Amino acid sequence: MASGGQPVFIIDPNKEQTKGKEALSMNIAAAKAVASIVKSTLGPRGMDKMLVNVLGDVTITNDGATILHDMSIEHPAAKMVVEVAQSLESSAGDGTTSSVVFTGTLLEKADELIENGVHPTLVVKGFRLAAEKAVEILEGLAVPVGSEDREVLARVARTSATGKATETYNTLLAKIAVDAVLAVYDRDKADLKHVAMLKEIGGITEDSEFVEGLVIEKVAMDRNAPLRIENANLALIDTPMEIEKTSNKAKLQISSVEDLEKFVKEEEATLFGMADYIIRAGANAVFCSKGMDEKISAYLQGHGIYATRRVKNEDLQHIAEATGGRAIRNIKELTKNELGHAGLLEQDREGDQGKTYLRDCKGAKTVSIVIRGGTEHAVDNVERAIDDGLRVVKCVVEDGRIVAGGGAPEVEVALGLRSYASSIGGREQMAIMAFADALEEIPRTIARNAGMDTIDTILNLRAKHAEDKNAGINVFSGEIEDMFEKGVVDPLRVKLNSIKAGSEAAEMVLRVDNILRAQRSEIQDVRPEHMAATYDGMSAPQMNMRR
Ligand code: ADP
Ligand code: MG
Repeated sequence: MASGGQPVFIIDPNKEQTKGKEALSMNIAAAKAVASIVKSTLGPRGMDKMLVNVLGDVTITNDGATILHDMSIEHPAAKMVVEVAQSLESSAGDGTTSSVVFTGTLLEKADELIENGVHPTLVVKGFRLAAEKAVEILEGLAVPVGSEDREVLARVARTSATGKATETYNTLLAKIAVDAVLAVYDRDKADLKHVAMLKEIGGITEDSEFVEGLVIEKVAMDRNAPLRIENANLALIDTPMEIEKTSNKAKLQISSVEDLEKFVKEEEATLFGMADYIIRAGANAVFCSKGMDEKISAYLQGHGIYATRRVKNEDLQHIAEATGGRAIRNIKELTKNELGHAGLLEQDREGDQGKTYLRDCKGAKTVSIVIRGGTEHAVDNVERAIDDGLRVVKCVVEDGRIVAGGGAPEVEVALGLRSYASSIGGREQMAIMAFADALEEIPRTIARNAGMDTIDTILNLRAKHAEDKNAGINVFSGEIEDMFEKGVVDPLRVKLNSIKAGSEAAEMVLRVDNILRAQRSEIQDVRPEHMAATYDGMSAPQMNMRR
């Protein structure tokens, strides 16, 4: 079969192939489609989307990042656009919708240029020049902010949450985010790993709180254990503190009362032996990630020691980091060197339910946020708002720079790009102009979603920018106003990333001129003997175009 007049297929003839302009148009259409889905959610007056998963769970949100995450996007180009935007979300915490809308519009403009005979490579070149210039202009617009400026930091957090479901509580949530970031901010970095989030369904959102220290959803097993321990020394035990059920086989040999007593005594000796290791090490609190016999907790309580069991592994890890302790697998190894330290351990308990607070911890700086709300849905929304808030505040604290929001920087950069374009000339000039137009799609969309006239708004914005670089859209009054004065501010990093991600994603799409799509059935057909026949002896993996 491998010889004779047989054609040599270098590409599997079963692969569906789309080439050139057609491939490009397909990809552009897909990217535009993604943009059009999230477009109506952009800005504080954006609409909500209702997401229903396969189990029928409902999420209502206008958070672009959440929507894109929960939608099962199949088209490869659309996926690419979303992935770029998501990498942005993870680095800056905001601006996902803006970046997807920008990418979609950029590609739409590119399509028109290509339609008019401009080669995709020239479009890409123009977009690159424009992106570089845009970054330069944006940096020039940025205003410095110090980490001591809590008021401005809170405004950044508020701006990121404006128009979300948590509106009524945004001032409180912004304050919590600022407190938490500043608490873990150290040597130019705010590591959000040290911010633990705890969700409590059933409370009221106003009671959500920031705690300097750790909060564990556990109370002491023994009701008489101390409620407050100053200078707590914590033993962190990652092994069961009970007698394994399997060793109870001994029961079979018990035939008399004496035997039974002896057996119980032996068992107690083993249990109390475990407790004695804790006492000897000098601990006055025990956090065990596995089971613990109640006899041990009662015995420890008798010595004024707090003990709790079945602490989640990640919580045990958090406690270890925060208190400078080390979780141990063998109780016999416990010495005072493995103990963690906290200035104060406090229980907040009602019956057998409640929390334990570890304040003034002596290890790595750790803080907690307790999120409360009436329903799971409410708590999730609060969590998302705080999470976004934490990340935007982190950006500003680390970079120390903000820009105006409400479409102001996009208009200013677009104006700058238009005058830059004329200095470049040629066909790239057209691409730079297109880039400027695409940027203005952000204020245009914010205005449209607020029910304002888009043409008037853009013209008005451009005119106002002659004297005020920070003129943006006040979506609540419908006026064009100074966004710094209104307290609508975004981190510089979010805007920079949004522009970079948008142009990067657009470039990726524009560079594709050939789509090779494997047929589904082929996945099962990848067998050595089959390959040898199909590929005429050439090595199969090289022929497989799937990545
Ligand atoms: P993204 O996912 O891009 O962050 P959002 O729906 O959060 O999308 O909208 C962000 C845009 O809304 C930003 O341009 C921001 O400056 C703007 N914005 C936020 N609050 C206000 C406000 N009060 N008035 C005008 N624009 C606002
Ligand atoms: Mg946002």
